[in-house]
Amino acid sequence: MADTIFDKIIRREIPADIVYEDDDVLAFRDIAPAAPVHVLFIPKKAIATLNDASEADVALIGKLVLAAARWAKAQGFAEKGYRLVTNCNKDGGQTVFHIHLHLLAGRQMHWPPG
Ligand code: AMP
Repeated sequence: MADTIFDKIIRREIPADIVYEDDDVLAFRDIAPAAPVHVLFIPKKAIATLNDASEADVALIGKLVLAAARWAKAQGFAEKGYRLVTNCNKDGGQTVFHIHLHLLAGRQMHWPPG
């Protein structure tokens, strides 16, 4: 699989504003925030798109979602609310091909998104 900018962040080859890390997950602030809080939760394992995830990744994807939810609680905005988004391929608006969850918070979200 091709190396992405997120792999470089995992290897600390380029800087990022890292807010959370464990053995499997890294989270850092999005460089172009779409909300007052905009953090990307990524697995350290490189999986290009959700289409490429397999049965072997079930636990990892669960950890990713839980890490985001726990961080939202720890930051104190979970009760007020937030949005978790993952984009897949061109029509989904994916630009970095290493799966990630966008955690957006700090403003009223709208539905449907653009
Ligand atoms: P997506 O379009 O869903 O693939 O999301 C990729 C996200 O990565 C975008 O919101 C970008 O702003 C963000 N991004 C790209 N490069 C960086 C970087 N070096 N540091 C932090 N966020 C980045």
